[in-house]
Amino acid sequence: KKEPFEALLEKVAASQTERSQFTFEQLTPDEIREGLQGDAVTLVYQPKIAVAGRELVGVESLVRWRDPERGLMGPGALIPVAEESGLINDVTEAVFKAAMAQCGAWRADGFDLKVAVNVSVENLDQLDFPEFIVDTAAEEGVPPSSVVLEVTESRIMADIVKPLEILTRLRMKGVGLSIDDFGTGASSMQQLKRIPFTEIKIDREFVAGAADDEEARAMLVSSIGLGKDLGLSVVAEGVETQAEWDLVASLGVNVVQGYLVAKAMPGDAVQAWLEDWSAKTVMRRRMAQPHVPRRLAAILAADVVGYSRLMGADEEGTLERLNDCRAIIDGLVKEYEGRVFGSAGDSVIAEFASPVEAVRCAVEIQQKIDKVNAELPKDRCMRFRIGVNLGDVMVEGTNLFGDGVNVAARLQEIAKPGGLCVSADTYHHVRGKLSVKFEDLGEKALKNIAEPIRVYRVEIEAPKADATT
Ligand code: C2E
Ligand code: CA
Ligand code: CA
Repeated sequence: KKEPFEALLEKVAASQTERSQFTFEQLTPDEIREGLQGDAVTLVYQPKIAVAGRELVGVESLVRWRDPERGLMGPGALIPVAEESGLINDVTEAVFKAAMAQCGAWRADGFDLKVAVNVSVENLDQLDFPEFIVDTAAEEGVPPSSVVLEVTESRIMADIVKPLEILTRLRMKGVGLSIDDFGTGASSMQQLKRIPFTEIKIDREFVAGAADDEEARAMLVSSIGLGKDLGLSVVAEGVETQAEWDLVASLGVNVVQGYLVAKAMPGDAVQAWLEDWSAKTVMRRRMAQPHVPRRLAAILAADVVGYSRLMGADEEGTLERLNDCRAIIDGLVKEYEGRVFGSAGDSVIAEFASPVEAVRCAVEIQQKIDKVNAELPKDRCMRFRIGVNLGDVMVEGTNLFGDGVNVAARLQEIAKPGGLCVSADTYHHVRGKLSVKFEDLGEKALKNIAEPIRVYRVEIEAPKADATT
């Protein structure tokens, strides 16, 4: 009969191959040699998020191999072969250079980010490795403190003397050191204490298994405890669900990485991802505040089409016309008993007690502005897009926010210049009560909104000549 721990390790190994998103195909040493001459090595980056505050603490780079025939291949196609054929130093060099180039580019953009790079134990046998790391980073303007090297635990313990010396030198230069896949090896506290690690990453198998597997859970708890005892930052890998996040958070994990937060992405996608993530974080925080009253409201969101272009062409004239338009909008909102909320620049958010009033108001805004535009030369016209939604909002001082507002803003983005789009909820409340026509645009996935939303376009007719004042 197998030892329970041994059985668990086998399960880990089996499910790790099973869950890999890539094929099992492997490159040959010659293919690797050739690819390294060109641009076969490319990196994707996965965010690491602090449990407290949900802030981005860094990214881990993961290697991808661009093969002319087989497409994008995972590390499994490359790393084991490179380790066996003596090519791993060349691979790590290419990976590390690419990671530092990306980190340097981010820094030049004012985006200060720690970048973690995976290294093999085979990389830790040349005494000039620390110089290579620090010098390569410096060439891209990256300080050692922004670099983290991740080394797999099970492999590092096999032959400790040389790696220990190299890791110690790296740490003395300020490079962060992470024990990867923690739990899959059999290191003792005594062994771990000798290496100046800064971080411990608990393998995703213990995270995924912890909910219903006693042993995995015990392993998770003791690994976290060990990390804490050694004063290390404890990272949980492969967190895929909120339940897993909650569990590791309750056990004291400091940092989370996994699909729940984000999959690995190309370097040039990270900043946009972070903007979305931060926006969601702000929203969560506000939602969590019990004192902020929530209510259902009809929200109108409007903004000027091509505002920055208009401002670039004629700032003074644009501001003047924006003022005129705002006077029209504010007047109509008031007429329909709505309330305008803190509007920034060219965008307006207004709240109404009923969706009927909100849609009526939106239609009239477009008609009135259309009429003003009819008397202006084409290049001076100012047109708005408007979205109306019925949803949950919260009020804090002079701010209106919540998913209800976000959806209205997305609907507005879908609308054409001079046009109006509404959500399905709005449509159902309004149809039959107003003499406008609707066109069903179908379900649309809206940015930062969990569920797709059915969108309706409102046909806005030119006002009858005698009906206007
Ligand atoms: P790792 O360092 O433990 O990296 C995490 C792996 O788990 C990545 O797979 C990542 O895509 C995946 N992952 C992240 N979050 C989740 C999740 O929530 N669920 C699941 N199921 N998986 C998740 P990837 O990119 O295939 O990398 C596999 C391994 O290859 C890495 O494991 C690392 O040991 C090695 N590796 C990757 N890049 C390099 C490199 O540049 N050099 C070296 N030496 N090894 C590398
Ligand atoms: Ca890693
Ligand atoms: Ca790992």
